[in-house]
Amino acid sequence: MGTMAHPPWYEQGLRFQCQGCGDCCRGPGGYVWVNAAEAREIAEALAMDANDFGGKFLRRTPTGLALVDSGSGDCPFLDDSGGCVIYRNRPVQCKTWPWWRENLTSPEAWEVAARRCPGMGRGERHSLFVIENRSSNEF
Ligand code: SF4
Repeated sequence: MGTMAHPPWYEQGLRFQCQGCGDCCRGPGGYVWVNAAEAREIAEALAMDANDFGGKFLRRTPTGLALVDSGSGDCPFLDDSGGCVIYRNRPVQCKTWPWWRENLTSPEAWEVAARRCPGMGRGERHSLFVIENRSSNEF
């Protein structure tokens, strides 16, 4: 983090508590990035051979490996009740939501993202320290 001559706009922290709606895991146009270590971990958790897992769940893009989508654009690991089948082994991208740099660039960026995530701005207040720590852990 370094010394902060200009504290960020979220200096007082931000509220976030997932409401479990699953909306961040739905819909077309998104990518769930996974690195090789994450892919291995998920395959293991599903008791799948790494090659079978790759063939079934991974796609190669110009900027890296991503999960395939389920056809409708939803995450392939979203279950019928909006839960995550691989929650304990979910990729860093999923673990660090909503502390992505793109959401933290300005209050407006946060507001825009919050329109699609009812957990943003609700519940527990996360301190600047926690936010910076998570966002620096980004994929
Ligand atoms: S959109 Fe937000 S509230 Fe809904 S599941 Fe995703 S993180 Fe939780």
